[in-house]
Amino acid sequence: MAIVMKPGASDEDIKRVIKFVEENYGLRVDVSRGEFQTLLGLIGDEDKVDFDRLALLPGVEKAYRITSPYRLVSRSFFPEDRVIEVKGVKIGGKNKPVFIAGPCAIESREQIFRIAKEVKEAGADILRGGAFKPRTSVHSFQGLGEEGLEYLARAGEEFGMPTVSEVRSERHVEVVAKYVDILQIGARNMYNQDLIEEAARQKKPILIKRSFGASIEEFLSFAERAAAQGNKDIILCERGIIPIGRGRQFTRYSLDLSAIPIVKAESYLPIIVDPSHGTGRRDLIYPMSKAAIAAGAHGLMIEVHYNPNEALSDGPQMITPLEFKRIVEVCEKIYMLNSVEGC
Ligand code: PEP
Ligand code: MN
Repeated sequence: MAIVMKPGASDEDIKRVIKFVEENYGLRVDVSRGEFQTLLGLIGDEDKVDFDRLALLPGVEKAYRITSPYRLVSRSFFPEDRVIEVKGVKIGGKNKPVFIAGPCAIESREQIFRIAKEVKEAGADILRGGAFKPRTSVHSFQGLGEEGLEYLARAGEEFGMPTVSEVRSERHVEVVAKYVDILQIGARNMYNQDLIEEAARQKKPILIKRSFGASIEEFLSFAERAAAQGNKDIILCERGIIPIGRGRQFTRYSLDLSAIPIVKAESYLPIIVDPSHGTGRRDLIYPMSKAAIAAGAHGLMIEVHYNPNEALSDGPQMITPLEFKRIVEVCEKIYMLNSVEGC
């Protein structure tokens, strides 16, 4: 349900409505303050809510039911684009696309410092690097854990970039939040509601990757879980879905670029694209990056390594800083063209 407050509604009016909802229905209330009006969203099972009574409370303009499972993050609830600002980098809205770059995994202090320097020079805005890696095999490199996070944070500081790293389990939320600026929920964990809620409670932006089998409705519904914790600094990331049949011969996943305009129509949250995991092939990163920005993505997350063949994970999809630079340059041109055309 959405309760639209009148433009002149006072804080007292808003507090009264919240109290009324909490006391009569036992539900929580989300408050979204727009430029002119405040919107209140109810969190929980609304079956017993009496709209007509709510609409009569002082300061209320109207109260109506939204049936969508993702209301708090839906554009029909709140029409203005959300812009998330992390250490001066703006993500979302009409801002220029953000470029998140770095290795799949932090492998050593030297490695992350060198990559940070080179991607920064190439145009990166945010530094990525995994420390608690989700790996299929227990025999693969699992990441450096806290030690890696420390190197990542230092490299970010040294080269003036905010950082992002994956939180693989609830056990790691606190330690990841201690070091990085954005907490990443990986594709394998998109359905992990406890992890999403715990990460959202850290009061830092979270980046949620679409699971490889998830519908867009499910994707947004799990983002809704973060929003219901009072944290709407959510960056969505399309990273490829399971290819059908023979498609698997050629790519690791199928990048679903149609998700970009759909998500932008459905939600005010920023959506970025990860063409690295989305294809698994370094030769596809350039064309898919261009396509993602042309389709309106708010940014890209790309795996970069100065020596992809030596990388301890995901070497085949990794590109060099020079190749990354070319992507930044061409994508900025595509973004300018989109802006001129009003896309
Ligand atoms: C990653 O970004 O490091 C990663 C493992 O991606 P995904 O969760 O999309 O597989
Ligand atoms: Mn990877």
